[in-house]
Amino acid sequence: MRVQNVNGKHGPTCSCGSWLEHWMATARRRVAFCPVRGCFEPVAAGARVQKEGAPDGRWYVVPLCKQHDARAGAALELIDSALLVPADDGESCGR
Ligand SMILES: [Zn+2]
Ligand SMILES: [Zn+2]
Repeated sequence: MRVQNVNGKHGPTCSCGSWLEHWMATARRRVAFCPVRGCFEPVAAGARVQKEGAPDGRWYVVPLCKQHDARAGAALELIDSALLVPADDGESCGR
């Protein structure tokens, strides 16, 4: 799956404290390694991404390593098992 790193763009916010916490609260699991294909660095942050070519334009959160999280605007190829959670899913926030 191809996504674009949209960190730094104006988008939805939430009250979880960090996007990594938002991801863990929504996905209800933890992840150790960056899901970018060929990358095996430890997860450092929750990055905001949009699916490439998706007409919905929705914002998602996926945990990435420090290097890929910092690559704002980059297109990233994720492994198939990467789990994206919606960034604007207020129901799971703050729990
Ligand atoms: Zn990475
Ligand atoms: Zn949240």
